[in-house]
Amino acid sequence: MGSQSILVAGGAGYIGSHTVRLLNSEGYKVVVLDNLVYGHRDAVVDDEVVFVEGAVGDRELLRRLFKEHQFEAVIHFAAFAYVGESVTDPLKYYRNNTAEPLTLLEVMAEFNCQAFVFSSTCATYGEPRRIPLTEDHPQSPINPYGRSKLMVEWILEDCDQAFNLKSVALRYFNASGCSSDGKIGEDHNPETHLIPLVLQAAQGGIKHLTVFGTDYETPDGTCIRDYIHVEDLATAHVAAVKHLAGGGESVRCNLGTGIGVSVKEIIDIAEEVTGLKVPVKYGERRPGDPAQLVADPRLAKEILEWEAQHTKVRSMVETAWQWMSAPHGGHFKE
Ligand code: UDP
Repeated sequence: MGSQSILVAGGAGYIGSHTVRLLNSEGYKVVVLDNLVYGHRDAVVDDEVVFVEGAVGDRELLRRLFKEHQFEAVIHFAAFAYVGESVTDPLKYYRNNTAEPLTLLEVMAEFNCQAFVFSSTCATYGEPRRIPLTEDHPQSPINPYGRSKLMVEWILEDCDQAFNLKSVALRYFNASGCSSDGKIGEDHNPETHLIPLVLQAAQGGIKHLTVFGTDYETPDGTCIRDYIHVEDLATAHVAAVKHLAGGGESVRCNLGTGIGVSVKEIIDIAEEVTGLKVPVKYGERRPGDPAQLVADPRLAKEILEWEAQHTKVRSMVETAWQWMSAPHGGHFKE
Protein backbone atom coordinates (compact mmCIF):
# COMPACT_ATOMS: atom_id res chain seq x y z
CA MET A 1 0.00 0.00 0.00
CA GLY A 2 1.32 3.41 -0.92
CA SER A 3 0.64 6.39 1.30
CA GLN A 4 2.58 8.77 -0.90
CA SER A 5 1.00 11.86 -2.34
CA ILE A 6 1.04 11.89 -6.15
CA LEU A 7 0.18 14.60 -8.65
CA VAL A 8 -1.35 13.18 -11.81
CA ALA A 9 -1.37 15.70 -14.64
CA GLY A 10 -3.91 14.63 -17.25
CA GLY A 11 -5.58 12.23 -14.83
CA ALA A 12 -9.00 12.72 -16.45
CA GLY A 13 -7.86 11.31 -19.79
CA TYR A 14 -8.03 7.75 -21.06
CA ILE A 15 -4.85 6.24 -19.62
CA GLY A 16 -4.61 8.74 -16.77
CA SER A 17 -8.05 7.95 -15.37
CA HIS A 18 -7.35 4.20 -15.27
CA THR A 19 -4.07 4.86 -13.48
CA VAL A 20 -5.74 7.20 -10.99
CA ARG A 21 -8.23 4.50 -10.01
CA LEU A 22 -5.45 2.01 -9.45
CA LEU A 23 -3.33 4.43 -7.42
CA ASN A 24 -6.34 5.27 -5.27
CA SER A 25 -7.15 1.60 -4.70
CA GLU A 26 -3.53 1.05 -3.60
CA GLY A 27 -3.83 3.77 -0.96
CA TYR A 28 -1.97 6.63 -2.67
CA LYS A 29 -3.23 10.15 -2.08
CA VAL A 30 -3.97 11.39 -5.56
CA VAL A 31 -4.45 14.89 -6.88
CA VAL A 32 -5.56 15.12 -10.52
CA LEU A 33 -4.74 18.24 -12.50
CA ASP A 34 -6.52 18.33 -15.85
CA ASN A 35 -7.64 21.17 -18.12
CA LEU A 36 -10.50 19.02 -19.49
CA VAL A 37 -9.64 19.88 -23.09
CA TYR A 38 -9.71 16.17 -23.97
CA GLY A 39 -10.26 14.70 -20.50
CA HIS A 40 -13.61 14.09 -18.82
CA ARG A 41 -14.47 15.18 -15.30
CA ASP A 42 -16.59 12.03 -14.93
CA ALA A 43 -13.61 9.81 -15.67
CA VAL A 44 -12.29 10.58 -12.19
CA VAL A 45 -14.69 8.38 -10.27
CA ASP A 46 -13.26 8.01 -6.76
CA ASP A 47 -14.40 10.48 -4.10
CA GLU A 48 -11.02 10.31 -2.31
CA VAL A 49 -9.24 11.75 -5.35
CA VAL A 50 -8.84 15.52 -5.39
CA PHE A 51 -9.71 17.00 -8.77
CA VAL A 52 -8.31 20.37 -9.85
CA GLU A 53 -9.21 21.90 -13.21
CA GLY A 54 -6.22 23.72 -14.59
CA ALA A 55 -3.15 23.72 -16.81
CA VAL A 56 0.23 22.08 -16.39
CA GLY A 57 1.77 25.39 -17.42
CA ASP A 58 0.06 27.41 -14.66
CA ARG A 59 2.98 28.11 -12.34
CA GLU A 60 1.01 29.79 -9.56
CA LEU A 61 -1.55 27.00 -9.46
CA LEU A 62 1.24 24.40 -9.37
CA ARG A 63 3.00 26.21 -6.54
CA ARG A 64 -0.22 26.26 -4.57
CA LEU A 65 -0.75 22.53 -5.11
CA PHE A 66 2.85 21.63 -4.22
CA LYS A 67 2.65 23.68 -1.02
CA GLU A 68 -0.58 22.07 0.00
CA HIS A 69 0.19 18.43 -0.83
CA GLN A 70 3.97 17.81 -0.65
CA PHE A 71 3.97 15.51 -3.67
CA GLU A 72 6.52 12.71 -3.67
CA ALA A 73 6.04 11.99 -7.36
CA VAL A 74 4.41 13.39 -10.48
CA ILE A 75 2.87 11.35 -13.28
CA HIS A 76 2.47 13.32 -16.47
CA PHE A 77 -0.21 12.25 -18.99
CA ALA A 78 -1.37 15.68 -20.10
CA ALA A 79 -0.60 15.61 -23.82
CA PHE A 80 -2.22 15.86 -27.22
CA ALA A 81 -1.96 12.62 -29.16
CA TYR A 82 -3.44 13.02 -32.65
CA VAL A 83 -0.60 12.28 -35.05
CA GLY A 84 -2.38 13.80 -38.08
CA GLU A 85 -3.18 17.02 -36.23
CA SER A 86 0.43 17.25 -35.08
CA VAL A 87 1.48 17.43 -38.73
CA THR A 88 -0.94 20.25 -39.60
CA ASP A 89 -0.59 22.13 -36.29
CA PRO A 90 2.90 21.31 -34.95
CA LEU A 91 3.15 24.34 -32.70
CA LYS A 92 0.08 23.22 -30.76
CA TYR A 93 1.98 19.97 -30.03
CA TYR A 94 5.31 21.56 -29.18
CA ARG A 95 3.56 24.10 -26.95
CA ASN A 96 1.42 21.60 -25.08
CA ASN A 97 3.52 18.43 -25.08
CA THR A 98 7.02 19.90 -24.87
CA ALA A 99 6.89 23.44 -23.51
CA GLU A 100 4.16 23.17 -20.85
CA PRO A 101 5.89 20.36 -18.91
CA LEU A 102 8.88 22.70 -18.43
CA THR A 103 6.86 24.74 -15.95
CA LEU A 104 5.89 21.58 -14.12
CA LEU A 105 9.53 20.45 -13.98
CA GLU A 106 10.63 23.87 -12.73
CA VAL A 107 8.08 23.83 -9.94
CA MET A 108 9.09 20.26 -9.06
CA ALA A 109 12.70 21.43 -8.75
CA GLU A 110 11.60 24.36 -6.63
CA PHE A 111 9.82 22.02 -4.21
CA ASN A 112 12.48 19.34 -4.38
CA CYS A 113 10.18 16.71 -5.87
CA GLN A 114 12.55 14.27 -7.59
CA ALA A 115 10.36 11.58 -9.21
CA PHE A 116 8.67 11.95 -12.59
CA VAL A 117 6.79 9.34 -14.61
CA PHE A 118 6.30 10.35 -18.22
CA SER A 119 3.93 9.09 -20.93
CA SER A 120 6.17 8.53 -23.90
CA THR A 121 5.37 6.58 -27.03
CA CYS A 122 6.63 4.05 -29.54
CA ALA A 123 6.18 6.93 -32.03
CA THR A 124 9.57 8.18 -30.79
CA TYR A 125 11.23 5.32 -32.73
CA GLY A 126 9.89 6.31 -36.14
CA GLU A 127 10.14 3.76 -38.96
CA PRO A 128 11.39 0.52 -37.33
CA ARG A 129 14.65 -0.93 -38.62
CA ARG A 130 14.00 -4.19 -36.78
CA ILE A 131 11.12 -5.84 -34.94
CA PRO A 132 10.59 -6.29 -32.04
CA LEU A 133 11.65 -2.82 -30.95
CA THR A 134 14.10 -2.69 -28.10
CA GLU A 135 14.69 0.51 -26.16
CA ASP A 136 18.10 1.01 -27.77
CA HIS A 137 16.55 1.14 -31.25
CA PRO A 138 17.44 4.53 -32.83
CA GLN A 139 14.85 7.18 -32.10
CA SER A 140 14.01 9.04 -35.26
CA PRO A 141 10.35 10.06 -35.07
CA ILE A 142 8.58 10.88 -38.32
CA ASN A 143 5.96 13.32 -37.04
CA PRO A 144 5.75 16.28 -34.64
CA TYR A 145 3.81 14.22 -32.08
CA GLY A 146 6.69 11.73 -31.76
CA ARG A 147 9.24 14.54 -31.73
CA SER A 148 7.32 16.47 -29.06
CA LYS A 149 7.56 13.41 -26.81
CA LEU A 150 11.17 12.55 -27.62
CA MET A 151 12.25 16.07 -26.70
CA VAL A 152 10.77 15.60 -23.25
CA GLU A 153 12.72 12.34 -22.89
CA TRP A 154 15.88 14.36 -23.64
CA ILE A 155 14.88 17.12 -21.24
CA LEU A 156 14.41 14.51 -18.53
CA GLU A 157 17.88 13.05 -19.17
CA ASP A 158 19.37 16.53 -18.82
CA CYS A 159 17.44 17.19 -15.60
CA ASP A 160 18.75 13.92 -14.15
CA GLN A 161 22.32 14.98 -14.99
CA ALA A 162 21.89 18.49 -13.69
CA PHE A 163 19.89 18.09 -10.51
CA ASN A 164 19.19 14.41 -10.01
CA LEU A 165 15.58 14.36 -11.14
CA LYS A 166 14.75 10.66 -11.55
CA SER A 167 12.31 9.71 -14.24
CA VAL A 168 10.64 6.75 -15.87
CA ALA A 169 9.60 7.34 -19.48
CA LEU A 170 7.10 4.74 -20.57
CA ARG A 171 6.92 4.18 -24.30
CA TYR A 172 3.38 2.98 -24.89
CA PHE A 173 2.47 0.84 -27.85
CA ASN A 174 -1.26 0.76 -28.81
CA ALA A 175 -3.31 1.53 -25.70
CA SER A 176 -6.69 -0.18 -25.88
CA GLY A 177 -9.53 -1.75 -23.89
CA CYS A 178 -11.44 -0.34 -20.96
CA SER A 179 -11.75 -0.99 -17.23
CA SER A 180 -12.83 -4.57 -16.50
CA ASP A 181 -15.76 -3.39 -14.34
CA GLY A 182 -17.04 -1.16 -17.13
CA LYS A 183 -16.88 2.00 -15.02
CA ILE A 184 -14.53 4.01 -17.21
CA GLY A 185 -13.27 3.66 -20.75
CA GLU A 186 -12.07 5.27 -23.92
CA ASP A 187 -14.02 8.35 -25.05
CA HIS A 188 -12.06 10.32 -27.62
CA ASN A 189 -13.56 13.05 -29.74
CA PRO A 190 -12.72 12.66 -32.56
CA GLU A 191 -12.05 8.92 -32.33
CA THR A 192 -9.26 7.76 -34.61
CA HIS A 193 -8.20 4.48 -32.99
CA LEU A 194 -8.79 1.14 -34.61
CA ILE A 195 -10.60 -0.89 -31.94
CA PRO A 196 -13.29 1.69 -31.06
CA LEU A 197 -13.84 2.42 -34.75
CA VAL A 198 -14.23 -1.27 -35.59
CA LEU A 199 -16.80 -1.57 -32.81
CA GLN A 200 -18.61 1.59 -33.91
CA ALA A 201 -18.83 0.12 -37.41
CA ALA A 202 -20.26 -3.12 -35.97
CA GLN A 203 -22.82 -1.12 -34.00
CA GLY A 204 -23.84 1.01 -36.99
CA GLY A 205 -22.51 4.23 -35.44
CA ILE A 206 -20.33 4.72 -38.51
CA LYS A 207 -21.10 3.34 -41.98
CA HIS A 208 -17.97 1.27 -42.30
CA LEU A 209 -14.41 0.88 -41.14
CA THR A 210 -11.79 1.87 -43.66
CA VAL A 211 -8.80 -0.46 -43.52
CA PHE A 212 -5.76 1.68 -44.20
CA GLY A 213 -3.77 -0.43 -46.66
CA THR A 214 -3.87 -4.10 -47.61
CA ASP A 215 -0.53 -4.29 -49.43
CA TYR A 216 1.89 -4.21 -46.51
CA GLU A 217 4.59 -6.85 -46.23
CA THR A 218 2.75 -8.72 -43.51
CA PRO A 219 1.08 -12.15 -43.67
CA ASP A 220 -2.41 -10.75 -44.46
CA GLY A 221 -1.27 -7.43 -45.98
CA THR A 222 -2.61 -5.23 -43.15
CA CYS A 223 -0.61 -3.40 -40.49
CA ILE A 224 0.55 -5.15 -37.34
CA ARG A 225 0.45 -3.43 -33.96
CA ASP A 226 1.09 -4.39 -30.34
CA TYR A 227 -2.17 -3.69 -28.45
CA ILE A 228 -1.69 -3.16 -24.75
CA HIS A 229 -4.59 -3.12 -22.30
CA VAL A 230 -5.12 0.20 -20.52
CA GLU A 231 -5.27 -1.61 -17.16
CA ASP A 232 -1.81 -3.02 -17.84
CA LEU A 233 -0.59 0.49 -18.62
CA ALA A 234 -2.02 1.58 -15.26
CA THR A 235 -0.12 -1.13 -13.36
CA ALA A 236 3.07 -0.11 -15.15
CA HIS A 237 2.71 3.47 -13.86
CA VAL A 238 2.28 2.26 -10.31
CA ALA A 239 5.35 0.03 -10.79
CA ALA A 240 7.25 3.08 -12.05
CA VAL A 241 6.26 5.12 -8.99
CA LYS A 242 7.45 2.28 -6.76
CA HIS A 243 10.71 1.97 -8.69
CA LEU A 244 11.46 5.66 -8.12
CA ALA A 245 10.30 5.59 -4.49
CA GLY A 246 12.72 2.70 -3.93
CA GLY A 247 15.64 4.82 -5.16
CA GLY A 248 15.66 3.40 -8.70
CA GLU A 249 17.61 5.01 -11.51
CA SER A 250 16.02 6.80 -14.44
CA VAL A 251 14.87 4.42 -17.15
CA ARG A 252 13.01 4.36 -20.49
CA CYS A 253 10.82 1.30 -21.06
CA ASN A 254 8.56 -0.07 -23.73
CA LEU A 255 5.08 -1.00 -22.61
CA GLY A 256 3.67 -3.65 -24.88
CA THR A 257 2.79 -7.32 -24.88
CA GLY A 258 5.39 -8.30 -27.46
CA ILE A 259 2.60 -9.81 -29.57
CA GLY A 260 1.72 -8.37 -32.97
CA VAL A 261 -1.88 -8.39 -34.22
CA SER A 262 -3.05 -7.31 -37.68
CA VAL A 263 -5.94 -5.00 -38.57
CA LYS A 264 -7.75 -7.95 -40.20
CA GLU A 265 -7.33 -10.04 -37.06
CA ILE A 266 -8.87 -7.25 -34.96
CA ILE A 267 -11.88 -7.14 -37.29
CA ASP A 268 -12.34 -10.93 -37.05
CA ILE A 269 -12.13 -10.83 -33.23
CA ALA A 270 -14.58 -7.92 -33.09
CA GLU A 271 -17.08 -9.91 -35.16
CA GLU A 272 -16.72 -12.87 -32.80
CA VAL A 273 -17.05 -10.72 -29.66
CA THR A 274 -20.04 -8.67 -30.86
CA GLY A 275 -21.77 -11.33 -32.95
CA LEU A 276 -22.16 -8.55 -35.53
CA LYS A 277 -20.74 -8.02 -38.99
CA VAL A 278 -18.17 -5.23 -39.33
CA PRO A 279 -18.77 -3.40 -42.62
CA VAL A 280 -15.35 -2.80 -44.13
CA LYS A 281 -13.92 -0.78 -47.00
CA TYR A 282 -10.37 -1.32 -48.14
CA GLY A 283 -8.59 1.98 -48.56
CA GLU A 284 -5.18 3.47 -49.18
CA ARG A 285 -2.32 3.35 -46.70
CA ARG A 286 -2.40 6.13 -44.09
CA PRO A 287 0.74 8.27 -44.43
CA GLY A 288 3.27 7.58 -41.70
CA ASP A 289 1.99 4.13 -40.71
CA PRO A 290 4.83 1.59 -40.44
CA ALA A 291 3.94 -1.98 -41.44
CA GLN A 292 4.74 -3.31 -37.99
CA LEU A 293 5.21 -1.92 -34.50
CA VAL A 294 5.83 -4.57 -31.87
CA ALA A 295 7.56 -4.07 -28.54
CA ASP A 296 10.25 -6.09 -26.94
CA PRO A 297 8.82 -5.84 -23.41
CA ARG A 298 11.72 -7.46 -21.52
CA LEU A 299 13.28 -4.33 -20.04
CA ALA A 300 10.08 -3.34 -18.22
CA LYS A 301 9.95 -6.83 -16.76
CA GLU A 302 13.56 -6.71 -15.66
CA ILE A 303 13.56 -3.20 -14.18
CA LEU A 304 9.98 -2.50 -13.14
CA GLU A 305 8.99 -6.13 -12.53
CA TRP A 306 6.03 -5.44 -14.75
CA GLU A 307 4.54 -7.45 -17.56
CA ALA A 308 1.20 -7.33 -19.36
CA GLN A 309 -1.47 -9.56 -17.87
CA HIS A 310 -3.90 -9.14 -20.76
CA THR A 311 -1.95 -10.94 -23.45
CA LYS A 312 -4.92 -11.73 -25.68
CA VAL A 313 -6.23 -8.89 -27.80
CA ARG A 314 -9.68 -10.42 -27.37
CA SER A 315 -9.67 -9.05 -23.83
CA MET A 316 -9.09 -5.48 -25.11
CA VAL A 317 -11.90 -5.88 -27.66
CA GLU A 318 -14.28 -7.41 -25.08
CA THR A 319 -13.79 -4.68 -22.49
CA ALA A 320 -14.03 -1.97 -25.16
CA TRP A 321 -17.29 -3.55 -26.35
CA GLN A 322 -18.66 -3.76 -22.81
CA TRP A 323 -18.00 -0.01 -22.45
CA MET A 324 -19.41 0.96 -25.83
CA SER A 325 -22.53 -1.17 -25.68
CA ALA A 326 -23.52 0.14 -22.21
CA PRO A 327 -26.50 2.56 -22.04
CA HIS A 328 -24.13 5.57 -22.10
CA GLY A 329 -22.76 4.32 -25.44
CA GLY A 330 -19.15 4.71 -24.36
CA HIS A 331 -19.45 8.42 -23.54
CA PHE A 332 -18.93 10.31 -20.32
CA LYS A 333 -21.56 12.88 -19.42
CA GLU A 334 -18.95 15.60 -18.88
N1 UDP B 1 -6.41 1.70 -38.81
C1 UDP B 1 -7.25 1.42 -39.87
N2 UDP B 1 -8.42 2.11 -39.98
C2 UDP B 1 -8.79 3.08 -39.09
C3 UDP B 1 -7.92 3.35 -38.00
C4 UDP B 1 -6.74 2.65 -37.90
O1 UDP B 1 -6.96 0.54 -40.71
O2 UDP B 1 -9.85 3.68 -39.28
C5 UDP B 1 -5.14 0.96 -38.68
C6 UDP B 1 -3.90 1.86 -38.74
O3 UDP B 1 -3.46 1.97 -40.08
C7 UDP B 1 -2.93 1.09 -37.86
C8 UDP B 1 -3.80 0.37 -36.85
O4 UDP B 1 -5.11 0.38 -37.40
O5 UDP B 1 -2.25 0.12 -38.61
C9 UDP B 1 -3.83 1.06 -35.50
O6 UDP B 1 -4.11 2.42 -35.68
P1 UDP B 1 -4.46 3.40 -34.50
O7 UDP B 1 -4.81 4.72 -35.12
O8 UDP B 1 -5.47 2.76 -33.61
O9 UDP B 1 -3.12 3.50 -33.66
P2 UDP B 1 -1.62 3.91 -34.10
O10 UDP B 1 -0.94 2.63 -34.46
O11 UDP B 1 -1.72 4.87 -35.23
O12 UDP B 1 -1.06 4.52 -32.87
